[in-house]
Amino acid sequence: MKTPAWDDPDFKAGSMVKAALWLVQEVGEGNTFTKEQLRAAFPGVSQIDRRVRDLRKYGWSILANTEDASLTAEEQRFVKAGAAVWDREARRAVGPRNALSAKAARAVMERDDFICTVCGISGGEEYPDDPNQTAVLSVTRRTTVFPDGREQVLSLTECKRCRAGSNGTLARADEVAADMRTLDPADRRRLARWIERNRRVSTPLDRVWAAYRRLPADARAEIRSVLDD
Ligand SMILES: [Zn+2]
Repeated sequence: MKTPAWDDPDFKAGSMVKAALWLVQEVGEGNTFTKEQLRAAFPGVSQIDRRVRDLRKYGWSILANTEDASLTAEEQRFVKAGAAVWDREARRAVGPRNALSAKAARAVMERDDFICTVCGISGGEEYPDDPNQTAVLSVTRRTTVFPDGREQVLSLTECKRCRAGSNGTLARADEVAADMRTLDPADRRRLARWIERNRRVSTPLDRVWAAYRRLPADARAEIRSVLDD
């Protein structure tokens, strides 16, 4: 399908789709735009900000100043386009319309042990740093980059807080794999063990460090020299 012009009056589409075209054709990937420019382009469209945010569900990367410190509060950065939402088929392939059924979402949560895969909190549990807030889990669909460059939209369990922090970002399996390769053999074995047990297993080094920290200062000072032997 030929890409329509964002301001073509004959092109019938919702404001999210038109905003996507506006970003591509007027702003350009990597560039910033302000809320004022957005509102000027779509006069009278209520909640156009929200329609732009909706694009993140389709793999579009659009950052606010909370995610990109170089931006002012008024600015956002259009980092990268996601699915071609103006093409109905492309949109259906990745978008919320193709969202998981409640049953499929539950299967994803079950696979992830009903914990947030980012911070490890369980559903309904209080956040340690904010007991007034309890975790709400949901299933996020995230564009994932594999080591061979392939991209695929995959599901994972996240709490609402982590989801807000990771919205629109890519899952970089390629970068994690590259980092794994740089580990020395002992760390590789350790990581393999953590993966197998699905949790970080404390090492002798961690245990000595924790015990050392609990010692009175004078005792710490006295045994410090053991490491110089
Ligand atoms: Zn979380």
